[in-house]
Amino acid sequence: TVAVTIDKVGKSFGGSGPAALDDVSLDIAKSELVALLGPSGSGKTTLLRIVAGLEQPSHGRVLFDGADALSVPVRRRGIGFVFQNYALFRHMSVAENIAFGLRSRPRAERPSDAQIRSRVADLLSLVQLDGYGGRFPAQLSGGQRQRVALARALAIEPKVLLLDEPFGALDALVRKELRRWLRELHERTGHTTLFVTHDQEEALELADRVVVMGKGRIEQVGTPDDVYDRPASAAVFGFMGESSRIEVDVKDGIAVAGDTAIAAATKPVPDGPGLVYVRPHDISLGLPGTPGLKGRVRGFRRHGAIRRVELEVGSGLFEADIAPTVRVPVGEKVAVRLDRARLFASG
Ligand code: ADP
Ligand code: MG
Repeated sequence: TVAVTIDKVGKSFGGSGPAALDDVSLDIAKSELVALLGPSGSGKTTLLRIVAGLEQPSHGRVLFDGADALSVPVRRRGIGFVFQNYALFRHMSVAENIAFGLRSRPRAERPSDAQIRSRVADLLSLVQLDGYGGRFPAQLSGGQRQRVALARALAIEPKVLLLDEPFGALDALVRKELRRWLRELHERTGHTTLFVTHDQEEALELADRVVVMGKGRIEQVGTPDDVYDRPASAAVFGFMGESSRIEVDVKDGIAVAGDTAIAAATKPVPDGPGLVYVRPHDISLGLPGTPGLKGRVRGFRRHGAIRRVELEVGSGLFEADIAPTVRVPVGEKVAVRLDRARLFASG
């Protein structure tokens, strides 16, 4: 069942620039974890704020469980919100922070003190911070603070959980740990969740579905495998990871560089100029004269566990990942094979 419907939502902040959101439509199923992925400025936060009710759209509709949400005030929408730098109340203990949403309910809806205490204890345990209720935010690590922020968002039993780059301010290792942890938490609690990130790895690992955004529009919606393996556009492919690009001529759906056919279109691409994209791990090297593009090794860079080799091919530059044990001298001629290249229409 659909929990949240975003229907042709647009937003302009006035001024002469393009709209922050341009007719965005999206259905989020109950218990689904959807990642909004896109570069900075693509409209992710604006969309999240509209769903939360912190911002009104210029046009379009937002429905929760099929009912209009835009006329429902923020406090009544049943939203849990976590921001990148979620300001926990510094002068309140962890337990008081988590209890805040429940305590500030109107008297008739407020649980008893005993109920609140028990709920806070449950939430502390859920976010693996048993025994931390008496601490203050300043006494916690960044990762612990974001877990408290999440517990605080969950305290009101939200219909929808909105997370805006919640791990964005944390260092890479903590981020990865929390990412896995959040996925497990989601599997246990099943909150309908909209998660904003500009980190494709994070989106691919966390989400049931990924919504790739660019310049106020949805570029593609799909499972992590869909958007990674079957990108709808060069923009999506480019955004999903590093890649090299080469200008080609397209003839009958085949990309030709010089006199070598290097890629076939997976969907119709008009004859004429085109662009082929390939990821560093989808390039392999062969001896000169074997099948492939004629290339020359320009240099190497260390890249974590692998070595990245820079290759000149015609006027283009490719980057390929090779095992550290492979030794090819700089200046050497090689055959460059594009193992899983993708052809897109140019422009
Ligand atoms: P993201 O979260 O993807 O980085 P945002 O939703 O924050 O993107 O911004 C989308 C666009 O809307 C940007 O061009 C941004 O400058 C603009 N924008 C966002 N909030 C405001 C605002 N309050 N006033 C004017 N422009 C805004
Ligand atoms: Mg943002």
